[in-house]
Amino acid sequence: MIAKSQKWVVGALATAFGVLLATIPEPAEAQPRADRVIVITLDGVRWQEIFGGADRRLITGRDGGTADTSLTLDRFWRDDLDARRRALLPFLWGTVAERGMLLGDSTRGSAVRVTNGMRFSYPGYNELFAGAPDDRVDSNDKVPNPNVTVLEWLHGQPAFAGSVEVFGSWDVFPSIFNVGRSRLPVNGAGLPFPTPTSERERIANQMTEWLPTLWRAARLDAPTMAGALEALRTRRPRVLAVLLGETDEWAHERRYDLYLDAARRSDDFIRALWETAQSLPEYRGRTSLIIATDHGRGPTRDWTDHGRDVPAAERIWMAIMGPEVTLTGVRANQPATQSQFAATVARLVGQDWQSARVGAAPAIRISGAER
Ligand SMILES: [Zn+2]
Repeated sequence: MIAKSQKWVVGALATAFGVLLATIPEPAEAQPRADRVIVITLDGVRWQEIFGGADRRLITGRDGGTADTSLTLDRFWRDDLDARRRALLPFLWGTVAERGMLLGDSTRGSAVRVTNGMRFSYPGYNELFAGAPDDRVDSNDKVPNPNVTVLEWLHGQPAFAGSVEVFGSWDVFPSIFNVGRSRLPVNGAGLPFPTPTSERERIANQMTEWLPTLWRAARLDAPTMAGALEALRTRRPRVLAVLLGETDEWAHERRYDLYLDAARRSDDFIRALWETAQSLPEYRGRTSLIIATDHGRGPTRDWTDHGRDVPAAERIWMAIMGPEVTLTGVRANQPATQSQFAATVARLVGQDWQSARVGAAPAIRISGAER
């Protein structure tokens, strides 16, 4: 029990403390730190299209394998550079390039290089997600990855357990993320919802079965997109990785028109993911976006190819946007490597991959405050 005089003292102290508190500005931490990330890869999309839009020399029958050149010119050709790249990638140029950063414009001293020397998919995804090249990863065979990826590492931490999901369009992804060891949920083939729990999921499965089967190892991107968007809406993972693949398939088939079409649809899908995330309280204002590719391609008639024999395929690109990204626009004189991707993904959710894995490359500098 407190005596009357003591009550007065307590009351006065509380009032004084209240006044004091009222004069202290709101701490910056009142805003939740960015701690969620959406990771996207577009298989084999060249830096030339990212920064230059459609390549006129390939909107042709001979070098581009373009079936309807007039349609493709209407959709993607503009004389003005900025209008041209916005016609191909409206979200990347209208939103990401303004609020975030684009890396990889070789004409501005910001080349992003693949360092694994193989310049094809599995070594590229390994370098992206393990944060270092590895000579042992030298084929696209379904061999469980000897390396722990940044996604597996995050998934193993209590704060991220059950909150990391991967959707891809290629049946090698379960091996790349070593699902036997990592226990990561990786959907890379077949139906987007192996055990559907809603009418939406059943419809998406049905639509998937009604799509054409074009390739043995890769499915069309639409089911991958449907699975990923629904995961975002319903389970709301802290880390969502979506690995799209049609661009590479159409490029190998020398169908420049369909390669551009796939890139355009990928951009639409990235917008849908971003806008959906911003409409959900778990993601709004605390989510980052990082986009990259596993390899480049040849610069001219050999645009269809990549690999050890295509040195130009070592040039790639990245895009990063989020609450903590303050270095914005097309970056000049900021070179980077593919290996820096993993540490950057971790950094975007407040984690340090470089100190967790010996030999991993450092995160990309995303703000002026960093070294
Ligand atoms: Zn390929």
